[in-house]
Amino acid sequence: MSKILIVEDEVSIAELERDYLELSGFEVEIETDGVVGLERALKEDFNMYILDLMLPGVDGFEICRQIRETKNTPILMVSAKKDDIDKIRGLGLGADDYITKPFSPSELVARVKAHLARYERLIGSSTAPENDIIEIRGIRIDKTARRVWVNDEEKQFTTKEFDLLSFLAQNPNHVFTKEELFRQIWDMESIGDIATVTVHIKKIREKIELDTAKPQYIETIWGVGYRFKV
Ligand code: CA
Repeated sequence: MSKILIVEDEVSIAELERDYLELSGFEVEIETDGVVGLERALKEDFNMYILDLMLPGVDGFEICRQIRETKNTPILMVSAKKDDIDKIRGLGLGADDYITKPFSPSELVARVKAHLARYERLIGSSTAPENDIIEIRGIRIDKTARRVWVNDEEKQFTTKEFDLLSFLAQNPNHVFTKEELFRQIWDMESIGDIATVTVHIKKIREKIELDTAKPQYIETIWGVGYRFKV
């Protein structure tokens, strides 16, 4: 849920803003003093700030300026005077929007929603795609980072061991012959034979199985091959 900080010394206005925003599903905190408002704005994480311009202690200009030194969180400035709004624009403090009192609460809510949506898109598009992860009964294979954890303990795998394990794990309950696995993991020109597969399976089991004599993950299907059991 998005959390909004309102810094506004006129309690009735602050409460009106809060009531409407809460009705729209936002979590809202109010501070009526500029100094306390600034401190919370900098220390705590909010999804948006609504700042009145004229405040006791520290004014909205200064709060806006200081938030922008460290955060890109949307800021909506509120003022009773149109002139002040022009002044803020002129100062280039980095506020995202301005609204003049008196304003309709629905107008405020609409603007807050628009800024939060825009900011979410911005954050979303700048975040790296998530790693491709396979998780099966205590085994966690991060295919992107090529790392493996068994019951939260990281285990080291060689390149081919990793390729073989992740291939089997991403095709659970499918039985592969040694020939199929050899073709899949080792390229055709490789010098070697299918006994290599058996050796690698043994090494993988030593790392992931509690008891290699009774494997819980990679099963041997006698006369056929192997499968990763889910
Ligand atoms: Ca004020």
